Amino acid sequence: MIKARIKAESSKANLISYDQTYKTFNWPDVEKEFSWHRTGKINIVHEAVDLRAMEPQKRGRKALIFEKNGQIEEFSYLDLKERSCQWANLLAQYGFETGDRFFIFLPPCPEIYLAILACARLGVLICPVFSTVNFDELAGRLNNAQPRGILTHPDLVEMIPVEAMGSVQYLFLTEGPLPGVFSNEVLVEGVVQHMPKEFTTIWLPADAPLYINYTSGSTGPPKGVVHTHGDMAGIFISGKYVLDLNEETVLWVDADPAWVTGLICGTFAPWLCGSTSLVQGDTFEAYNWYWTLEKHHVSVWYTTPRTIRRLMEAGENLPGRYDLSGLRHIASVGAPLVPDLFYWAKQHLGRSPHDTWWMTETGMICLANFPSMDIKPGSMGRPVPGIEAAILDDHGKPMPPMSLGDLALRVEWPGMMSGLWQDEDRYEDYFRFKGWFLTGDIAIKDDEGYYYHQGRNDDLLKAGGDKVIGPYEIEQVLCMHPAVAEAAVISKGTEPDKGVSFLKAFITINKGFTPSTRLNHEIKAFLKASLSSDIIVKEISILEKLPKTRSGKLLRRVLRAGELGLPGGRTLDMKD
Ligand code: ATP
Ligand code: MG
Repeated sequence: MIKARIKAESSKANLISYDQTYKTFNWPDVEKEFSWHRTGKINIVHEAVDLRAMEPQKRGRKALIFEKNGQIEEFSYLDLKERSCQWANLLAQYGFETGDRFFIFLPPCPEIYLAILACARLGVLICPVFSTVNFDELAGRLNNAQPRGILTHPDLVEMIPVEAMGSVQYLFLTEGPLPGVFSNEVLVEGVVQHMPKEFTTIWLPADAPLYINYTSGSTGPPKGVVHTHGDMAGIFISGKYVLDLNEETVLWVDADPAWVTGLICGTFAPWLCGSTSLVQGDTFEAYNWYWTLEKHHVSVWYTTPRTIRRLMEAGENLPGRYDLSGLRHIASVGAPLVPDLFYWAKQHLGRSPHDTWWMTETGMICLANFPSMDIKPGSMGRPVPGIEAAILDDHGKPMPPMSLGDLALRVEWPGMMSGLWQDEDRYEDYFRFKGWFLTGDIAIKDDEGYYYHQGRNDDLLKAGGDKVIGPYEIEQVLCMHPAVAEAAVISKGTEPDKGVSFLKAFITINKGFTPSTRLNHEIKAFLKASLSSDIIVKEISILEKLPKTRSGKLLRRVLRAGELGLPGGRTLDMKD
């Protein structure tokens, strides 16, 4: 853990004084900001889009900018309202009702956003799926959620497993010609535009499901996490305090809409705050990322450590060629924002990236570095107002500062998942300790309440005596060696007679270094000199790249399985 402290970047943010807001915050006050508090009529689309579309001064403001291959499409709040009503009418015409599930299996495109809003209007559960899932992954999700409809593109139809289509009555296609693979194909293009632009939004109870999102599958088979319309208070606070959104903001979330970050922070979070959401549909190219920031005057950028690493690898000369002066806040999520990435971004992008932490299950950002708060590089920050976090021991007791334990959140908060679809047992497991939600992550809290991610619960390593450590601690030290770009440390089991984990590290190396036995020895010696004597990394393997999920999370379980010859080691070739 490094001791550096970086001064807060903004005193004009929505959250001015963290300590004071945290102390006085309460959720009922936030709920008062929504019209349903007065009317009792709840639907997230009404609050996020329709209310602005009804106000003459606000309806023309940009709500969504979509860019792909140099083509830009813009949607005002009024456009989003009218066009999503057309989509809702289409779905209603095909008999879709509250409670049905609807899969959106598409690469980023505007139709995704219109369909999301249309589903929410009807109370149909939105189930976005990465367009890069493989056959088995898609079959697993279809069998689990049993959707009544799928929205996809002709190019993806071949990926749909016939045997998992039992529940699917309609396969909607954004473009023609219809591939003719399934008998229930329905062309949307050219049809939806003729639907009425008005739709009577369905009013729902706050606990009505809004979406099912499958977790990234970093620790095991993905879970179908269910969230409700009532999440809006938590989503709003994430947008307002963490992303620091307002009506002037252009927010770019460069995450796929099938990942919870893209799904929530690319849609409802900015719209509940009256901001503009920018979606860049191109695949990553460093110059294009900088150009997107400049061209669209992005003011807030929510990204991932993986993207910052790719920009860093593309070279430090590049950012200086672009005008990034409009960028006032950078936030990151999904994996540890390691100090080398933090300092690189701070130096070359002109802003500190602010690490944030949340999970599909939490429905909102729960830990964060706020623009008005000092940053401790390497820390995920402090709990968002309205969220109580703690580090628990094996018996569910809160531990004192600087202890390593299970990261837990006090139940409940608006945003907490309402269930796992068809998976009651795994759901119960999150609540093993009464009054707490167990995240499955291990972390340390310092004496000022900043949290430091240390890995996943099942990545824990045994050092000497009864000491347990997270892999992150060793990975961080490895990354301090000039040759090491990224590192993952796993246990290959317990060493006989010693009771400590047999540790193996996997690393990727920086440009300019060549893998060799000598380099391997040198890194081991470096580790030995830097770690306490009871932590000994026995083996180091140099890989081309580390296995990661589509959203860029390290898959230590895949390395473990590959090493021990267990099933699950195959995901090594998981693609973007
Ligand atoms: P699964 O639950 O299927 O194993 P997953 O947990 O990776 O997959 P997500 O819900 O997408 O699926 O990711 C949440 C996890 O991402 C967190 O539990 C945490 O481990 C990791 N994470 C999120 N933000 C951060 C962060 N800022 N630093 C470190 N890890 C993070
Ligand atoms: Mg998880």
